[in-house]
Amino acid sequence: MVERAANLTKAGFFHGFSASLPGGEAPRRGASADFALGRDPGSLASDYAALGAAVGFDAARLYQVKQVHGTKTHLAEGDPREVVACEGDAVVARSDGAVAGVRVADCVPVLVACPSLGAAAAIHAGWRGVVRGVVPAALELLAGRGLVAAIGPSIGACCFEVSIEVGEEIASAVDDEAVIVARYGEGKAKVDLRRAVRAQLRGLGLADDAIEDVGGCSVCGRDRYHSYRRDGDESGRMLAVIVARGG
Ligand SMILES: [Zn+2]
Repeated sequence: MVERAANLTKAGFFHGFSASLPGGEAPRRGASADFALGRDPGSLASDYAALGAAVGFDAARLYQVKQVHGTKTHLAEGDPREVVACEGDAVVARSDGAVAGVRVADCVPVLVACPSLGAAAAIHAGWRGVVRGVVPAALELLAGRGLVAAIGPSIGACCFEVSIEVGEEIASAVDDEAVIVARYGEGKAKVDLRRAVRAQLRGLGLADDAIEDVGGCSVCGRDRYHSYRRDGDESGRMLAVIVARGG
């Protein structure tokens, strides 16, 4: 039920991207391993506990925010119930055992770790977040060097159709025209959003080989992933988490 990135494991960070369901049942709202905040608290708590056991974290120290496709980043400090009421799209965890988490269902989850500080960030990067700069905003607060990053399961270039205008907005935001993988029909384009995130991370100084793409298209991967584009309001949410450790 959890996918991981080898580079974050090697750097000593507990982390994971929630994925497939027991029995291969198609993900849907309310099904097991659905981290949508609107679920009934009991089911949500049992999914947090299961993910915590699989990844190695204390669900009581899991920090999330109210995601709005913006750039604000919050620290994983204080009462998690207060932090989750704050609008934002990234969480930075600095103290040993604090957990940063973001929910996705097509948007790109990005986990970034600083091996020397032991700090880590979880970032919710949809195309609006990419254009607005949520990745640079989160890394500014993380303030680490020698960072390693993992890009999690999300909508692939195979399925991410947008208008040409949106495609060009994304390409110019990350200064990489090649993120537009196809142009066709009535002003449509297919965009590689994970490549856009990678370009942004490289622009912030990360080495290409410090960035791992876990892979997996949320839309195509019906038996593994939640997808808002595929299932609309019936879609559940996946959770990407990373745990800060002692430096
Ligand atoms: Zn796809």
